[in-house]
Amino acid sequence: MSAKVIITAALTGAVTPKEKNPHIPLTPEEIAKDAYDCWKAGASVVHIHMRDENGIGTMDAERFEKTAKLISDRCDVVINMTTSGDHRATDDQRMLHIEKLAPEMASFDAGSFNWMPAGVFMNSPQFLEKLGRLMMEKNVKPEIEVFDSGMMDIANYYVEKGVIKAPLHYQFVLGVLGGMSASVKNLVYLLDKLPQGSTWSAFGVGSGHLPILMASLGMGGHIRVGLEDNIYFSKGVLASNVSLVERAVRIIKEADKIPATPADTRQILGLKGFGK
Ligand code: ZN
Repeated sequence: MSAKVIITAALTGAVTPKEKNPHIPLTPEEIAKDAYDCWKAGASVVHIHMRDENGIGTMDAERFEKTAKLISDRCDVVINMTTSGDHRATDDQRMLHIEKLAPEMASFDAGSFNWMPAGVFMNSPQFLEKLGRLMMEKNVKPEIEVFDSGMMDIANYYVEKGVIKAPLHYQFVLGVLGGMSASVKNLVYLLDKLPQGSTWSAFGVGSGHLPILMASLGMGGHIRVGLEDNIYFSKGVLASNVSLVERAVRIIKEADKIPATPADTRQILGLKGFGK
């Protein structure tokens, strides 16, 4: 049987304005429509961020709730909520929607670093411990976002401390200046550090997008696409979320693999299940 590949569509992100790509969905309605269209095209997970009425990243739990409901009313795609959608938010504001809504998945950024040139991407030890415990209490699967190799050790630390439970699911984020660059060599290095039994996905930001996607497929990983990471389809040609998912599906099929359904994804990642 062909291997199943989870496609995550990262629809919006925290910062890129619509002026750079008019296809970036910002309102709950726009995000839900893109989520549905990406699910129809073959994505089994949507990673979502919220924006306020001015298009600025916000951790507003009510907006997360409204958007998640609009999505779940239309399809069974797995919803993965960010916990890093607004650099001004307090630790508690970053966790409120997890507490209230207990999504199936949420991001867990395993460390701090200089996100060049914007500022410090802050994920303090105190925040990560609180977030990890909350996720375990609410049965939310952490997606361990790794921007640099030391973050793998931080994740191990929290497993050993009993804050989060293995097997973990990793998302390797390559190509942010301040983290590891988007090279296949860096991905191989990270995979060498992967604890046995883990699942993983990877993506390159911007021009590293396609090389990392193909390397991940070649090495048995899952993939992420979407306007959060990459606003271009090819040089000078703007992408839409759906066009990026459709291309990922084509590449997966050419590689003699198949896109995982949401049901497959829940089984592969050990999620609590739709509507639970
Ligand atoms: Zn994100």
